[in-house]
Amino acid sequence: MARGGYIPARLLCDFLNVENLLSIQSQHWTEAAKVAEKALIKFKYNVDLSGMNALLVDDIVDTGESLILAKNFIIGEWKPNDVKIATLQWISPVAKLKPDFYLIEVKEWYWFQYPWTRLEDTYQFIKRLLSEEGLSKREWTLEEIIAKFKELYGVDVGLNYFKDAADLLVENSFLIRSDNKYLIKS
Ligand code: AMP
Repeated sequence: MARGGYIPARLLCDFLNVENLLSIQSQHWTEAAKVAEKALIKFKYNVDLSGMNALLVDDIVDTGESLILAKNFIIGEWKPNDVKIATLQWISPVAKLKPDFYLIEVKEWYWFQYPWTRLEDTYQFIKRLLSEEGLSKREWTLEEIIAKFKELYGVDVGLNYFKDAADLLVENSFLIRSDNKYLIKS
């Protein structure tokens, strides 16, 4: 499933010797760790999967809303013989769906940091921390941002990701950079 399932799905094609790979974008979380109101299918293109079995792959089942929607869409519109679901993790206490195949059952909710969402997540988590901490402190050095990020989220994503995320926040007018400092725009 686009976008979280792309890389796991491509790897599964390799390991399971599968040639056909399609993508469906069922979107639920618009921002890291912030759930949108409702899941929706973005591009409802038509495919005929009759006579075939489908394996629907995603990174994680959290609420399960996006996969439920995608599975129903695929069954109703693409009409394969069967659809099974494979994910890396599923968060069993909150998930409304149990994947047929998974690597890890997660018992306590956690926001997973995948390599394919690292910049996006770093950007959003920095934005969130600055929005909250910025109420009492408006001017930050990159080192201060990194230290706060590590303190709050317990993750070190590496200097390049911190730099790129801060650059993007400047580009998107959330921050202003002057000398070696970042100022939160009011
Ligand atoms: P959901 O519909 O709630 O099962 O989640 C939809 C998508 O949001 C997942 O396929 C992930 O790409 C992303 N997502 C949701 N929860 C998490 C989480 N706890 N950690 C990382 N990514 C998540």
